[in-house]
Amino acid sequence: MERVGFIGLGIMGKPMAMNLLKAGCPLTVFNRSPGPQNELVMAGATSAGSPKDVAGQSDIVITMLPDSPDVERVVLGKDGVLEGLHSGGLVLDMSTVLPSLARNIQDKARQKGCMALDAPVSGGQVGARDATLSIMVGGTVSAFERARPILEKMGKNIVHVGDAGAGQVTKAANQIVVAVTIAAVSEALVLAAKAGVDPSRVREALLGGFAQSPVLDLHGNRMLQHNFQPGFRTVLHRKDMAIVLNTARELELALPVSATVAELMNALIASGGGELDHSALVTVLEKLGNVQGIAPPS
Ligand code: NAD
Repeated sequence: MERVGFIGLGIMGKPMAMNLLKAGCPLTVFNRSPGPQNELVMAGATSAGSPKDVAGQSDIVITMLPDSPDVERVVLGKDGVLEGLHSGGLVLDMSTVLPSLARNIQDKARQKGCMALDAPVSGGQVGARDATLSIMVGGTVSAFERARPILEKMGKNIVHVGDAGAGQVTKAANQIVVAVTIAAVSEALVLAAKAGVDPSRVREALLGGFAQSPVLDLHGNRMLQHNFQPGFRTVLHRKDMAIVLNTARELELALPVSATVAELMNALIASGGGELDHSALVTVLEKLGNVQGIAPPS
């Protein structure tokens, strides 16, 4: 069995790494803060002192880090993954980052005689815990076939979309749909509250028709409860909308609806909500509409 390294043990990375351990993978881990790293070591993983150290003990190195600069530093920087990985090793970046960075990493890996894949995920904390993530992969077919047994221990719907960067383009498309749907559900529930109609009954009615979606179901419920414990932090979704809009700009493509929702996320962050779950976007719509919270009277 190939030796796996895992770097970035946060909301997503920790349960994903736990699933690899449960499936019997020899696992070496590194995280910036020691808490989650110690938890993985208690569960049977080997501890490493740097990304280079992880790579030196692994055949495949997974990264699950917040943003593009983090991945660039950890994979390409000093004491980074590519400094430690042996020729023939595979870098598997599962973070959500710029497609251009994914292409750069695959170029640099090839120059070292290594392989790389971009393999971002959808399905959130629950999907990470239950190993039911949707995984969208960019890179060569041979790298994909090599990574598939590892990916199958973390996800269910695993699609090889195309060449380097194609996984990240797919994830950007996913984040447009999720962001715009959160804004739509927010507007629908705020409209109901302003009209004096119980938003929880509106959600219940809509769940049986064409407006049904996991966002209406799960995030609609969070909105009604005003329970915004993450989940997916708003700062990370705003980061993803920056990836969407930067990529669109490179392509000279207008995405006006995505741009508007990104501005609403900026408003949420400006009012102190950056660390809240992205479903807290509803609070921006509540403020705009002078609606005192959509939660129904108890
Ligand atoms: P997180 O902030 O919870 O976790 C990131 C982890 O990386 C933290 O443990 C942090 O200590 C560690 N880290 C940061 N910089 C590091 C470095 N230089 N070296 C080592 N460790 C470092 O983030 P998350 O929610 O787990 O998200 C990770 C990635 O997955 C992001 O790109 C995010 O957009 C994407 N994603 C998240 C979700 C979700 O629901 N949370 C869903 C799909 C995709």
